[in-house]
Amino acid sequence: MIGVDLGTTNVRIHVKGKGVMLREPAVIAVVKGTTIVKAVGQEAYRMLGRTPGNITAVRPMGDGVIADYTLTEKMLKAFISKVLTGPARFLRPNIMVCIPSGITEVEKRAVLQAINEIGARKAFLIEEPVAGAIGAGINIADPVGSMVIDIGGGTSDIAIISMGGIVVSVSLRIAGNTFDRDIMAHVKAQHNLLIGDRTAEEIKRTVGSAISDPDDVRTMEVRGRDLIDGMPKSITVSTDDVVRSLRGSLDKLAGGVRRVLEQGPPELVSDVIERGIVMTGGGAKLRDLDTFLRQITNIPVAVAENSEDCVVIGTAKALDMAHVLQDARSVPYRT
Ligand code: ADP
Ligand code: MG
Repeated sequence: MIGVDLGTTNVRIHVKGKGVMLREPAVIAVVKGTTIVKAVGQEAYRMLGRTPGNITAVRPMGDGVIADYTLTEKMLKAFISKVLTGPARFLRPNIMVCIPSGITEVEKRAVLQAINEIGARKAFLIEEPVAGAIGAGINIADPVGSMVIDIGGGTSDIAIISMGGIVVSVSLRIAGNTFDRDIMAHVKAQHNLLIGDRTAEEIKRTVGSAISDPDDVRTMEVRGRDLIDGMPKSITVSTDDVVRSLRGSLDKLAGGVRRVLEQGPPELVSDVIERGIVMTGGGAKLRDLDTFLRQITNIPVAVAENSEDCVVIGTAKALDMAHVLQDARSVPYRT
Protein backbone atom coordinates (compact mmCIF):
# COMPACT_ATOMS: atom_id res chain seq x y z
CA MET A 1 0.00 0.00 0.00
CA ILE A 2 1.31 3.36 -1.03
CA GLY A 3 0.45 6.90 0.01
CA VAL A 4 1.41 9.74 -2.34
CA ASP A 5 1.38 13.44 -1.43
CA LEU A 6 1.11 15.16 -4.79
CA GLY A 7 1.99 18.63 -3.56
CA THR A 8 2.34 21.82 -5.56
CA THR A 9 6.05 21.99 -4.77
CA ASN A 10 7.07 18.57 -3.47
CA VAL A 11 6.02 14.98 -3.98
CA ARG A 12 6.36 12.55 -1.09
CA ILE A 13 5.71 8.81 -1.10
CA HIS A 14 5.10 6.56 1.90
CA VAL A 15 5.32 2.79 1.48
CA LYS A 16 3.60 0.65 4.10
CA GLY A 17 6.09 -1.00 6.42
CA LYS A 18 8.95 1.12 5.11
CA GLY A 19 8.04 4.73 5.87
CA VAL A 20 8.55 7.85 3.77
CA MET A 21 10.66 6.56 0.87
CA LEU A 22 10.72 9.59 -1.40
CA ARG A 23 10.79 13.36 -0.96
CA GLU A 24 11.46 15.23 -4.19
CA PRO A 25 10.56 18.50 -5.88
CA ALA A 26 7.48 18.24 -8.14
CA VAL A 27 9.50 19.02 -11.26
CA ILE A 28 9.91 17.17 -14.55
CA ALA A 29 12.28 17.89 -17.43
CA VAL A 30 11.33 16.82 -20.96
CA VAL A 31 12.60 17.26 -24.48
CA LYS A 32 10.87 20.42 -25.67
CA GLY A 33 7.60 19.85 -27.50
CA THR A 34 7.53 16.14 -26.57
CA THR A 35 6.80 14.02 -23.50
CA ILE A 36 10.20 12.33 -23.58
CA VAL A 37 11.34 12.45 -19.96
CA LYS A 38 14.89 13.68 -19.30
CA ALA A 39 14.74 13.87 -15.50
CA VAL A 40 12.33 14.12 -12.57
CA GLY A 41 12.51 15.41 -9.00
CA GLN A 42 15.79 16.70 -7.58
CA GLU A 43 17.65 16.25 -10.84
CA ALA A 44 14.99 18.15 -12.82
CA TYR A 45 14.84 20.86 -10.13
CA ARG A 46 18.50 21.65 -10.67
CA MET A 47 17.70 22.22 -14.35
CA LEU A 48 15.02 24.87 -13.67
CA GLY A 49 16.11 28.05 -15.39
CA ARG A 50 19.30 26.38 -16.65
CA THR A 51 18.13 24.22 -19.56
CA PRO A 52 19.53 24.45 -23.08
CA GLY A 53 17.12 25.25 -25.90
CA ASN A 54 15.87 21.71 -26.53
CA ILE A 55 14.92 20.78 -22.94
CA THR A 56 12.31 22.29 -20.61
CA ALA A 57 12.01 21.78 -16.87
CA VAL A 58 8.52 22.48 -15.53
CA ARG A 59 6.41 22.24 -12.39
CA PRO A 60 3.34 20.41 -13.76
CA MET A 61 1.31 21.08 -10.60
CA GLY A 62 1.90 24.80 -10.95
CA ASP A 63 0.31 26.86 -8.23
CA GLY A 64 -2.11 24.23 -7.00
CA VAL A 65 -3.76 23.45 -10.30
CA ILE A 66 -2.68 20.80 -12.74
CA ALA A 67 -1.00 22.80 -15.45
CA ASP A 68 -0.24 19.76 -17.57
CA TYR A 69 -1.97 16.36 -17.22
CA THR A 70 0.43 14.34 -19.32
CA LEU A 71 3.48 15.61 -17.50
CA THR A 72 1.84 15.14 -14.09
CA GLU A 73 1.11 11.55 -15.04
CA LYS A 74 4.66 10.95 -16.29
CA MET A 75 6.11 12.48 -13.15
CA LEU A 76 3.90 10.37 -10.87
CA LYS A 77 4.81 7.22 -12.78
CA ALA A 78 8.53 7.96 -12.55
CA PHE A 79 8.35 8.60 -8.80
CA ILE A 80 6.26 5.52 -8.05
CA SER A 81 8.56 3.28 -10.04
CA LYS A 82 11.50 4.69 -8.06
CA VAL A 83 10.03 3.37 -4.79
CA LEU A 84 8.59 0.14 -6.18
CA THR A 85 11.65 -1.93 -6.89
CA GLY A 86 12.18 -5.66 -7.12
CA PRO A 87 9.22 -7.98 -6.68
CA ALA A 88 7.06 -5.14 -5.28
CA ARG A 89 6.75 -3.87 -8.82
CA PHE A 90 4.58 -6.83 -9.76
CA LEU A 91 2.30 -6.72 -6.72
CA ARG A 92 -0.29 -4.21 -7.68
CA PRO A 93 -0.54 -1.96 -4.63
CA ASN A 94 -3.48 0.07 -3.39
CA ILE A 95 -2.57 3.70 -3.89
CA MET A 96 -4.02 6.71 -2.08
CA VAL A 97 -3.10 10.10 -3.49
CA CYS A 98 -3.49 13.39 -1.68
CA ILE A 99 -4.43 16.27 -3.96
CA PRO A 100 -4.48 20.02 -3.29
CA SER A 101 -8.06 20.94 -2.37
CA GLY A 102 -8.31 23.58 -5.10
CA ILE A 103 -8.28 21.12 -8.01
CA THR A 104 -11.37 20.49 -10.13
CA GLU A 105 -13.40 17.31 -10.72
CA VAL A 106 -11.84 16.94 -14.15
CA GLU A 107 -8.36 17.20 -12.66
CA LYS A 108 -9.28 14.64 -9.98
CA ARG A 109 -10.36 12.15 -12.65
CA ALA A 110 -7.10 12.73 -14.49
CA VAL A 111 -5.09 11.90 -11.36
CA LEU A 112 -7.16 8.76 -10.72
CA GLN A 113 -6.67 7.68 -14.31
CA ALA A 114 -2.91 8.20 -14.03
CA ILE A 115 -2.73 6.02 -10.90
CA ASN A 116 -4.79 3.33 -12.58
CA GLU A 117 -2.48 3.35 -15.55
CA ILE A 118 0.47 2.89 -13.23
CA GLY A 119 -1.12 -0.43 -12.28
CA ALA A 120 -2.74 0.25 -8.94
CA ARG A 121 -5.08 -2.41 -7.67
CA LYS A 122 -7.31 0.34 -6.33
CA ALA A 123 -6.87 4.09 -6.55
CA PHE A 124 -8.14 6.55 -3.94
CA LEU A 125 -8.02 10.30 -3.51
CA ILE A 126 -7.97 12.25 -0.28
CA GLU A 127 -8.06 15.99 0.29
CA GLU A 128 -5.08 17.72 1.82
CA PRO A 129 -6.57 19.04 5.10
CA VAL A 130 -8.01 15.62 5.98
CA ALA A 131 -4.70 13.86 5.26
CA GLY A 132 -2.80 16.55 7.17
CA ALA A 133 -5.08 16.14 10.19
CA ILE A 134 -4.63 12.36 10.26
CA GLY A 135 -0.85 12.77 9.88
CA ALA A 136 -0.79 15.29 12.73
CA GLY A 137 -2.36 12.66 14.98
CA ILE A 138 -5.88 14.09 15.14
CA ASN A 139 -8.64 11.53 15.55
CA ILE A 140 -10.72 12.72 12.63
CA ALA A 141 -13.50 10.16 13.15
CA ASP A 142 -14.67 11.95 16.32
CA PRO A 143 -17.75 14.16 16.19
CA VAL A 144 -15.52 17.01 17.36
CA GLY A 145 -14.32 20.00 15.35
CA SER A 146 -10.60 20.24 14.53
CA MET A 147 -9.00 23.03 12.58
CA VAL A 148 -6.06 22.37 10.32
CA ILE A 149 -4.06 24.91 8.34
CA ASP A 150 -1.81 23.35 5.72
CA ILE A 151 0.68 25.75 4.20
CA GLY A 152 2.42 24.33 1.16
CA GLY A 153 4.29 26.00 -1.66
CA GLY A 154 1.41 26.93 -3.97
CA THR A 155 -1.65 26.78 -1.73
CA SER A 156 -2.73 27.19 1.86
CA ASP A 157 -5.70 25.09 2.92
CA ILE A 158 -7.65 26.06 5.99
CA ALA A 159 -10.36 23.66 7.14
CA ILE A 160 -12.56 22.58 10.01
CA ILE A 161 -12.95 18.81 10.02
CA SER A 162 -15.41 16.65 11.91
CA MET A 163 -16.38 12.98 11.58
CA GLY A 164 -13.96 12.28 8.77
CA GLY A 165 -15.03 15.10 6.48
CA ILE A 166 -14.44 18.77 5.75
CA VAL A 167 -17.19 20.96 7.19
CA VAL A 168 -15.88 24.35 6.01
CA SER A 169 -12.72 25.17 4.15
CA VAL A 170 -10.91 27.84 2.23
CA SER A 171 -8.08 27.27 -0.22
CA LEU A 172 -5.83 30.27 -0.87
CA ARG A 173 -3.21 30.71 -3.56
CA ILE A 174 -0.99 32.30 -0.93
CA ALA A 175 1.70 30.04 0.48
CA GLY A 176 5.45 29.45 0.62
CA ASN A 177 6.08 30.44 -3.01
CA THR A 178 4.16 33.69 -2.50
CA PHE A 179 6.43 34.49 0.46
CA ASP A 180 9.47 33.96 -1.78
CA ARG A 181 8.03 36.32 -4.41
CA ASP A 182 7.24 38.91 -1.71
CA ILE A 183 10.86 38.79 -0.56
CA MET A 184 12.14 39.18 -4.14
CA ALA A 185 9.89 42.19 -4.70
CA HIS A 186 10.93 43.81 -1.43
CA VAL A 187 14.65 43.36 -2.07
CA LYS A 188 14.14 44.83 -5.53
CA ALA A 189 12.19 47.85 -4.28
CA GLN A 190 14.23 48.56 -1.14
CA HIS A 191 17.73 47.59 -2.18
CA ASN A 192 17.64 47.86 -5.99
CA LEU A 193 18.77 44.26 -6.19
CA LEU A 194 17.49 41.43 -8.38
CA ILE A 195 17.67 38.04 -6.66
CA GLY A 196 16.53 34.59 -7.82
CA ASP A 197 13.71 32.61 -6.23
CA ARG A 198 16.09 30.14 -4.63
CA THR A 199 17.94 32.98 -2.91
CA ALA A 200 14.59 34.37 -1.75
CA GLU A 201 13.67 30.99 -0.28
CA GLU A 202 17.00 30.80 1.52
CA ILE A 203 16.40 34.24 3.03
CA LYS A 204 12.96 33.11 4.20
CA ARG A 205 14.30 29.99 5.89
CA THR A 206 17.43 31.56 7.36
CA VAL A 207 16.39 34.98 8.65
CA GLY A 208 12.64 34.99 7.93
CA SER A 209 9.88 35.38 10.46
CA ALA A 210 6.20 36.32 10.59
CA ILE A 211 6.63 38.85 13.41
CA SER A 212 9.48 41.07 14.48
CA ASP A 213 11.10 40.44 17.80
CA PRO A 214 13.70 43.06 18.76
CA ASP A 215 15.59 40.41 20.75
CA ASP A 216 15.96 38.10 17.79
CA VAL A 217 16.98 39.96 14.63
CA ARG A 218 18.96 37.79 12.20
CA THR A 219 20.89 38.93 9.16
CA MET A 220 22.50 37.32 6.15
CA GLU A 221 24.44 38.42 3.11
CA VAL A 222 22.90 37.80 -0.30
CA ARG A 223 24.14 38.27 -3.82
CA GLY A 224 22.18 39.48 -6.79
CA ARG A 225 22.32 41.88 -9.69
CA ASP A 226 22.31 45.62 -9.13
CA LEU A 227 19.35 47.17 -10.95
CA ILE A 228 21.20 50.40 -11.63
CA ASP A 229 24.44 49.23 -13.23
CA GLY A 230 23.57 45.59 -13.97
CA MET A 231 26.58 44.29 -12.04
CA PRO A 232 26.75 41.66 -9.26
CA LYS A 233 26.35 43.13 -5.77
CA SER A 234 26.06 41.86 -2.18
CA ILE A 235 23.79 43.29 0.47
CA THR A 236 22.74 42.34 3.99
CA VAL A 237 19.10 41.45 4.57
CA SER A 238 17.56 41.16 8.01
CA THR A 239 14.55 39.61 9.68
CA ASP A 240 12.84 43.00 9.50
CA ASP A 241 13.11 43.00 5.69
CA VAL A 242 11.26 39.69 5.61
CA VAL A 243 8.63 40.66 8.18
CA ARG A 244 7.84 43.81 6.23
CA SER A 245 7.74 42.05 2.86
CA LEU A 246 5.37 39.33 4.11
CA ARG A 247 2.90 41.66 5.84
CA GLY A 248 0.37 41.75 2.96
CA SER A 249 0.37 38.00 2.30
CA LEU A 250 0.18 37.14 5.99
CA ASP A 251 -2.80 39.46 6.41
CA LYS A 252 -4.58 37.62 3.59
CA LEU A 253 -3.76 34.30 5.21
CA ALA A 254 -5.17 35.58 8.50
CA GLY A 255 -8.27 36.73 6.60
CA GLY A 256 -8.78 33.18 5.31
CA VAL A 257 -8.50 31.78 8.84
CA ARG A 258 -11.06 34.34 10.08
CA ARG A 259 -13.46 33.44 7.27
CA VAL A 260 -13.37 29.74 8.14
CA LEU A 261 -13.97 30.53 11.83
CA GLU A 262 -16.90 32.81 10.90
CA GLN A 263 -18.49 30.24 8.61
CA GLY A 264 -18.01 27.25 10.91
CA PRO A 265 -20.97 25.92 12.92
CA PRO A 266 -20.76 27.34 16.49
CA GLU A 267 -20.38 23.97 18.21
CA LEU A 268 -17.41 23.03 16.05
CA VAL A 269 -15.81 26.47 16.41
CA SER A 270 -16.11 26.12 20.16
CA ASP A 271 -14.26 22.77 19.91
CA VAL A 272 -11.53 24.54 17.92
CA ILE A 273 -11.21 27.30 20.53
CA GLU A 274 -10.78 24.65 23.20
CA ARG A 275 -8.46 22.29 21.31
CA GLY A 276 -6.47 24.79 19.29
CA ILE A 277 -5.40 24.95 15.65
CA VAL A 278 -2.79 22.63 14.10
CA MET A 279 -0.53 23.70 11.23
CA THR A 280 0.96 21.27 8.71
CA GLY A 281 3.02 21.60 5.50
CA GLY A 282 6.48 22.99 4.85
CA GLY A 283 5.30 26.60 4.84
CA ALA A 284 4.11 26.24 8.44
CA LYS A 285 7.78 26.23 9.45
CA LEU A 286 8.15 29.96 8.82
CA ARG A 287 9.43 31.22 12.16
CA ASP A 288 6.72 32.61 14.49
CA LEU A 289 3.88 32.00 12.04
CA ASP A 290 2.11 30.16 14.86
CA THR A 291 2.55 33.15 17.17
CA PHE A 292 1.26 35.52 14.48
CA LEU A 293 -1.93 33.46 13.98
CA ARG A 294 -2.40 33.06 17.72
CA GLN A 295 -2.29 36.84 18.17
CA ILE A 296 -4.91 37.31 15.47
CA THR A 297 -7.35 34.56 16.44
CA ASN A 298 -6.82 34.35 20.21
CA ILE A 299 -6.80 30.60 19.76
CA PRO A 300 -3.80 28.38 20.57
CA VAL A 301 -1.87 27.43 17.43
CA ALA A 302 0.71 24.64 17.17
CA VAL A 303 2.93 23.50 14.32
CA ALA A 304 2.74 19.71 13.96
CA GLU A 305 5.97 17.79 14.43
CA ASN A 306 7.63 17.15 11.03
CA SER A 307 4.91 19.33 9.57
CA GLU A 308 6.09 18.77 5.99
CA ASP A 309 5.54 14.99 6.27
CA CYS A 310 2.10 15.07 7.95
CA VAL A 311 0.19 14.92 4.69
CA VAL A 312 1.99 11.91 3.25
CA ILE A 313 1.87 10.03 6.55
CA GLY A 314 -1.84 10.80 6.88
CA THR A 315 -2.45 9.78 3.26
CA ALA A 316 -0.83 6.40 3.88
CA LYS A 317 -2.73 5.90 7.14
CA ALA A 318 -5.99 6.77 5.39
CA LEU A 319 -5.70 3.59 3.33
CA ASP A 320 -6.72 1.72 6.49
CA MET A 321 -9.49 4.16 7.33
CA ALA A 322 -11.77 4.08 4.30
CA HIS A 323 -14.68 3.40 6.66
CA VAL A 324 -14.33 6.75 8.47
CA LEU A 325 -13.52 8.94 5.49
CA GLN A 326 -16.50 10.69 4.00
CA ASP A 327 -14.78 11.78 0.87
CA ALA A 328 -12.33 9.08 -0.18
CA ARG A 329 -13.36 7.81 -3.55
CA SER A 330 -12.09 4.85 -5.43
CA VAL A 331 -12.13 3.82 -9.03
CA PRO A 332 -11.66 0.13 -9.76
CA TYR A 333 -8.72 -0.88 -11.88
CA ARG A 334 -9.70 -0.92 -15.52
CA THR A 335 -8.86 -4.08 -17.44
P1 ADP B 1 3.44 21.38 -1.18
O1 ADP B 1 2.62 20.47 -0.32
O2 ADP B 1 2.65 22.49 -1.77
O3 ADP B 1 4.24 20.65 -2.21
P2 ADP B 1 5.30 21.62 1.09
O4 ADP B 1 4.38 21.24 2.20
O5 ADP B 1 6.33 20.65 0.70
O6 ADP B 1 4.48 22.11 -0.21
O7 ADP B 1 5.99 23.01 1.50
C1 ADP B 1 6.85 23.67 0.64
C2 ADP B 1 7.04 25.08 1.11
O8 ADP B 1 7.53 25.08 2.45
C3 ADP B 1 8.05 25.85 0.27
O9 ADP B 1 7.52 27.12 -0.08
C4 ADP B 1 9.24 26.01 1.23
O10 ADP B 1 9.97 27.20 0.99
C5 ADP B 1 8.53 26.07 2.57
N1 ADP B 1 9.43 25.76 3.70
C6 ADP B 1 10.08 24.60 3.94
N2 ADP B 1 10.86 24.71 5.06
C7 ADP B 1 10.67 25.97 5.53
C8 ADP B 1 11.21 26.71 6.64
N3 ADP B 1 12.07 26.16 7.50
N4 ADP B 1 10.79 27.99 6.81
C9 ADP B 1 9.92 28.56 5.95
N5 ADP B 1 9.39 27.93 4.87
C10 ADP B 1 9.76 26.64 4.66
MG1 MG C 1 1.21 19.82 0.62
